[in-house]
Amino acid sequence: MARNPYLKIFEQLPKDPVERIPEAMRLLLQRGEYRFDVHTHIFNREYIPNKFFEIRIPFLVNTDFLEYVDDIFTQLDEVPEGEDLLNYALFIDFATRHSMDNIAQYLINNSPRNTIFIVIALDLYQSIEGKVQKDYLKQLEDTARIRDKYPELILPFFEVNPTNPNIDKIIEKALVEYGFFGIKIYPSLGYMPSHPKLMQLYELCEEWNIPVITHCATHNLHTTRTFIPLEYYTIDENGKPVLKSQRRMFLFRSQYVNFFNRPQNWEVVLKSFPNLRLNFSHIGGEDDWDGRPRTDRNWSFRIFDFMERYDNVYADTAYIFHLDTFVELLTTNLFRNKLLEKRMLFGTDFYMIMEKGKYKNLRSKFVLSLGSELMKKISVMNPVKFLGLESLTNMEL
Ligand SMILES: [Zn+2]
Repeated sequence: MARNPYLKIFEQLPKDPVERIPEAMRLLLQRGEYRFDVHTHIFNREYIPNKFFEIRIPFLVNTDFLEYVDDIFTQLDEVPEGEDLLNYALFIDFATRHSMDNIAQYLINNSPRNTIFIVIALDLYQSIEGKVQKDYLKQLEDTARIRDKYPELILPFFEVNPTNPNIDKIIEKALVEYGFFGIKIYPSLGYMPSHPKLMQLYELCEEWNIPVITHCATHNLHTTRTFIPLEYYTIDENGKPVLKSQRRMFLFRSQYVNFFNRPQNWEVVLKSFPNLRLNFSHIGGEDDWDGRPRTDRNWSFRIFDFMERYDNVYADTAYIFHLDTFVELLTTNLFRNKLLEKRMLFGTDFYMIMEKGKYKNLRSKFVLSLGSELMKKISVMNPVKFLGLESLTNMEL
């Protein structure tokens, strides 16, 4: 078999995740008073192509109008809540007005003490049209710089977009020079999770205990490219991985998200690397959890099926934690299942969640509904296992 091209990068890294976190975080974990939020973002508008907001918000909402609404409300002392339009305006305002440093500080100041945040950098530049002031390498550099400001609280992950021509350099810089802890995959940005380059990477992530988070929802971002050449592995009728190449045309949001983000795309990955630490973020997304009956798809079932078959498969509550229907299902039904109780991770999707209301309010409402016992499982015990940091705690996990 050919030598893995990423091996020389990984050989520079320790295999024990404990050795890849800063000393200050190690001490915090040993002291024992901490919790995790496994899904946050701190990049501001300088790192976002202009088309980002057009894709993110409903097409009926005009961005000029939002800016106008936003201008008016920033002059008021008290901001009324509950209006979607207003939330979108506030969301855009937040990403526009604050620096990345300020966003990180806001997150820390508005969360419980000693919360450790997985901060996710996204490579939006390959996939979304529009000018950006600061490129992806700059985003990685700045994320690492902010991590150095709060070494006990920030654990950075970075997206690996295999269509980026500089991806090999990015992987090396992020893992070796900047000390990023884990990897993010965002398929609807225009690549399959079983892209050949990613398969090479997972092989080493499995061996080096490097966790992977994938976006798994129908909401939100997708690439602005329409005619996309694709190369990816799938499983043939004999259950063997086979490489497939095709060009596909995409026109609507549903086409992008249904093709790229479906959990089924991970079957070949997990079959090839059954011990990969993998978190399906958003557990299928709002469409799975909004309480409306649905017969055509249930991504969450596929994710639960993966959990049953693979020991290191997890799912997080990011973004959908704002849905009352989700919280209700979680507390009444889901947590009767012991397996799920061990594999759910607490994530907020800060500051994207500001599209749905105030971060602090949404967070508190969820934490209160869940109760301290379940919160301890999903925000302390399970994240520690997902990240491979068990040896730093004396908890029974
Ligand atoms: Zn996110």
